Amino acid sequence: MSTPSPATTPANPAANAPAAAPEAVKPSNFLRQIIESDLEKGTYANRRWAGTPGDAAHQAAGEPDPAKIRTRFPPEPNGYLHVGHAKSICINFGLARDYGGVCHLRFDDTNPEKEDTEYVNSIKDSVQWLGFSWNNSGESNLYQASDYFGFMYRAAEALIEAGHAYVDEQTVEQMRINRGDFGKPGVDSPFRARTPVENLAKFREMRDGLHEDGSMVLRAKIDMASPNINMRDPAIYRIRRATHHNTGDTWCIYPMYTYAHPIEDALEQITHSLCTLEFEDQRPFYDWLLERLTECGLLASPPPRQYEFARLNLTYVITSKRKLAQLVYDHKVSGWDDPRMPTIVGLRRRGYTPASIQTFAERIGVTKSDSWIDYSTLEGCLREDLELKAHRGMAVLNPVKLVLTNWDEVMGAGHLEPCALPALPHPPEGVDSPVRHFTIGKEVWIEREDFEEAPPKGYKRLFPGNKVRLKGGYVIECTGANKDANGVITEVLATVVPDTKSGTPGADTVKVKAAITWVGVADGVNAEVRMYDRLFLDAHPDAGGKDFIESLNPNSLKVVTAIVEPSLANAKPDDKFQFERHGYFVADRIDHKAEKPVFNLAVGLKDSWGK
Ligand code: ATP
Ligand code: MG
Repeated sequence: MSTPSPATTPANPAANAPAAAPEAVKPSNFLRQIIESDLEKGTYANRRWAGTPGDAAHQAAGEPDPAKIRTRFPPEPNGYLHVGHAKSICINFGLARDYGGVCHLRFDDTNPEKEDTEYVNSIKDSVQWLGFSWNNSGESNLYQASDYFGFMYRAAEALIEAGHAYVDEQTVEQMRINRGDFGKPGVDSPFRARTPVENLAKFREMRDGLHEDGSMVLRAKIDMASPNINMRDPAIYRIRRATHHNTGDTWCIYPMYTYAHPIEDALEQITHSLCTLEFEDQRPFYDWLLERLTECGLLASPPPRQYEFARLNLTYVITSKRKLAQLVYDHKVSGWDDPRMPTIVGLRRRGYTPASIQTFAERIGVTKSDSWIDYSTLEGCLREDLELKAHRGMAVLNPVKLVLTNWDEVMGAGHLEPCALPALPHPPEGVDSPVRHFTIGKEVWIEREDFEEAPPKGYKRLFPGNKVRLKGGYVIECTGANKDANGVITEVLATVVPDTKSGTPGADTVKVKAAITWVGVADGVNAEVRMYDRLFLDAHPDAGGKDFIESLNPNSLKVVTAIVEPSLANAKPDDKFQFERHGYFVADRIDHKAEKPVFNLAVGLKDSWGK
């Protein structure tokens, strides 16, 4: 079996949206094997594509399909996409990209509930932001399932005429009882023996609004004794008086999802219909339906095939649109794009990059059995991506003032000494790192934890008599500290050691055991820093029907006023940085302003989750 052509890393490592995940060769998986085998056998080689979705006649009039395979991502536009959807997007669009195919974005809007254009727009944004496109050689493969209602109705009539469907007037309760269960075969409905003529008349009455909502349904006529309960004459059309966002009041009957979905795939000439494992039991009906409709000449052959993969379960995370909506509407978070949310908009605002999410999807792979992925895997992917790209900068998150008591004497009163450090410690080959500029003077901000009056064993930072380097600045020697009436340290005191400035000859003659981060009082800028932690304390917040609200982490957000070096204050929204020693931070895409910098903690420097 051949390996897919290797994806290359984008030329510009600083680019925000790479064309492909930065792995040289993708590991194989069962979906790749199925596709490669289909390509080898030419399973779909003779398909035609008329440029738009349609029935057998429509496609037959088209050209040989230039797309070697067709996949689709079919969200219901009833919420914002989350990290689980991101996995599905990466799989569907990624496989199409890797095998000369095309991936459709299809809004599965067959449920006549009010669609929100807010959701539609956000889904499109999220797919594009992840680095994918539904535009292929000038063709926009963006579809909505409700455009196929006309065909779905026609197909239902065809099934009735061929004796494959009937109108059932049993009550919901009767139908439930007569369906049987795992140990008990079902019982035929008294309406099951109706003739096609009778069924057609009844079905048209349903369509014409002559019957109450819920009074009857159209059912496929398959096998009430099937060991697979989904094959015991599933309902395929129901009466529901609801105004649809696309088709208005044209219809008072709507197709069931299990009926609509295979038809949507077939009309769009999908070859590999990839879905999550919970649809496995639906596959026999998927195949049954498409075989019947191909037989009667309505759908092009060969029909699409469904393959199931394990959904993403991520520890400490909820992946259900409905439950995420509850967090938003109950104001447990600030919105769908709250940086603690596992939505794609939330991850983006948190500082996640498209490359990191693509790498994550590659790394967790595609399997056929459910498992939990540790949240640290996602964090690791972001860290890896930002390690090489994010500019470094110093920020003091819990500041206390350090006064260099001999500064005026040795450096000159009020003197500010310019300092510089590279923004990237490992710039790409042949490229010079950008340089950050800042100044040091008599007073600087340091982290409160970098001074200990009585140092614990092994402490290497500031304590009376010890020398450290102010990173990128001078070696200093601690002399003590001033305290207020409550014993709280108000200022740390030190002296500067002349001729030790970083990068100058002889700077290393005075040896120190530690270099600490700092920001000048003269040029430091106040910034709001939002320190995020996991949203839930329970690794499986909603497992086994648990009330996930109960395990919300009360400390998932702490806001601090930090002081940052001037290069950080110049950030543009979405710019990502490594605050040295603290972690990776992003300038908040909504609230960050030049005059009031706001940063979000994206991820710490190393995994702290296990601790
Ligand atoms: P939710 O329960 O969050 O509403 P859903 O499955 O109902 O999710 P859809 O909009 O129907 O949401 O999903 C679109 C596609 O995304 C489907 O093909 C679905 O299988 C896939 N998907 C949804 N959740 C996950 C997940 N956690 N992991 C992988 N794929 C997922
Ligand atoms: Mg759904």
